[in-house]
Amino acid sequence: MQADLELFQKLSEKLITHEKQNGVVKPIKAEKLLDVLNLELSNEALNEDTFESLLEDIVLSTPRTSTKLFFNQLFGGRNSKATLGELLAVMLNNSMYTYKVGGPQVGIEKVIINKVCEMLNFGKNADGTFPPGGSMSNFMAMLMARDAYNRDIKFEGVSEKMIIYTSDASHYSITKNAMFGGIGIEQIRRIQTDEFGKMIPEALQKQIEKDIKDGLKPFFVNATAGTTVLGAFDDIDAISDITKNYKNLWLHVDGAYCGSVIFSKTYKYLVNGVESADSFSFNAHKMLNVPLSCSILITKEKHNLKHSFACQADYLYQTDGDEYNLGKTSLQCGRRNDALKFWTLWKSVGTAGLEQMVDQQFKLAQTARNYIESHSEYKLYSYEDSISVCFNYKNIDPKDLCNSLYEDGKLMVGYGEFQGITFVRLVAINSNNREEDILNFFKVMETYVEEKQLELVTT
Ligand SMILES: *Cc1c(COP(=O)(O)O)cnc(C)c1O
Repeated sequence: MQADLELFQKLSEKLITHEKQNGVVKPIKAEKLLDVLNLELSNEALNEDTFESLLEDIVLSTPRTSTKLFFNQLFGGRNSKATLGELLAVMLNNSMYTYKVGGPQVGIEKVIINKVCEMLNFGKNADGTFPPGGSMSNFMAMLMARDAYNRDIKFEGVSEKMIIYTSDASHYSITKNAMFGGIGIEQIRRIQTDEFGKMIPEALQKQIEKDIKDGLKPFFVNATAGTTVLGAFDDIDAISDITKNYKNLWLHVDGAYCGSVIFSKTYKYLVNGVESADSFSFNAHKMLNVPLSCSILITKEKHNLKHSFACQADYLYQTDGDEYNLGKTSLQCGRRNDALKFWTLWKSVGTAGLEQMVDQQFKLAQTARNYIESHSEYKLYSYEDSISVCFNYKNIDPKDLCNSLYEDGKLMVGYGEFQGITFVRLVAINSNNREEDILNFFKVMETYVEEKQLELVTT
C-alpha cells in the first residue's frame, strides 16, 4: 500500500505541474483510443514499471476539468480541502447504510443535512439524504411525491394518469425519471418559459386546471433553481402560490446547478419562497466545487422519505436505531461516503467561506458579461444573476467554434440552445478563478479565431 500511495503522490504532482503548463490536453480521437493507449486487459500481469508509465500516460492524456481553461460543464476547479476529504473517504471505504459500518461518518452526513434543513427554514420534521447525483435527487423527490399522492402506489403500482409539470428549460432527468417511476413521458407537461428562461406561472396554473378538468391527476411540480443552459431561476414564490391551492401537489425545487445560492446572503433571494417547497436538492459538486459527485436532497416531512425508501432487511440493520441507519432513507443499499468531502470543505472555510465561493462565481460571470457588452463583435444572450454567460462571437457558428477549440486543445467550452438560438456557454463555476482568468478565456478564443481564420458563418 505504501508504495502505491507514493505512486499516487508522484502521479498527482506530475498532473498538477502539467496542468499549470497546459490547461487543456489535445484530445485523442475516440476511434484511435485503443491504438494510442494500452487499455486492453489480458491474462498476464503487467510489470511494475510498465504499469507505472501506462498510468502516467493515462493521467496526462485525460481531459482536465480542474484548470483555468475548463469552462465546459457545470462543475470545475479543484478544491484542495474537499479533495482531501474525498481521498480520506476512499481510504476509509465505509458504506453509509448503517451506523455500525459508518460510525462518525454517519454523524458527519447528519450534521450537514440538519444544517441545510435549518438554512432552508424547513421546520423540525425535515430530513434528507445524499443521493447519487442531481438526477437521482430529482428521482427520489418524484417518487416521494408519487407515494405521498397515493400511499398505496408502492404496493399496487401506478394505475392513474399522474401529471408532472416542469419548465421547457428544465433538466432532462425529469424525462428519464418519468420513465423510471412508471409515470410515463406523455404525462409530462412542459410549461413555457419567458424570455429569461423562467417558467411562466400563469401557464402552469392554466395547465393544471385543464388537466384536472380532463380527469387527470396532477401530483408533481418541478421548479428549477438555475436552468442547465441559461442558469435561470424559476419564481418559486409565484409557483408555490399556485401549488398550495391543490391537495397533494408536491413542489420540488431542482437546485442541482445553482441551489447553492442558499449559502450567499447576496444571492439567496434567487430562491425566495423555497421554504414553501416540499423538497429541495442541490449539487455541492457544482457551485461548491466539491469533487463529483455530492448531491443533497432535503424534504420537509421525513416520513415521506421513510415511506418511499425504507425496507426491512434483518441481514443489514442489526444495531442502533433507524435514525442512525441511513440506509432506511436512501435509494441504494451500499452507498459511498459523499458527505466527508463536503464536510472537510465546510469545516475548514466555514459557512462564510462557502458564501465567498458562490459570490465569486457571480462576480466572474459579471466580468464576462461586462467584457462581452463592451466589445461590439460579441452578442450576449444571458442575463444578470446567472453564472452561465451565453454569447456569440463575430457570427461564428458556436458549434464549430467550441468543437475546434476542443480538437486543437485550446479551450474547453460548450454550446447551448435556448428558444431556437445556439450560443457559446461560458460557465463561471470555478471559484478558484480570478477575473484575469475570465479575460484570458476571451483572449485565448480571439487569438485562436484570428490564427485559424475561422470562417464567419451567420448564426
Ligand atoms: C446538473 C443538473 C442536474 C443533474 O445532476 P447530476 O448530478 O449530473 O445527475 C439536474 N438538474 C439540473 C438543473 C442540473 O443542472
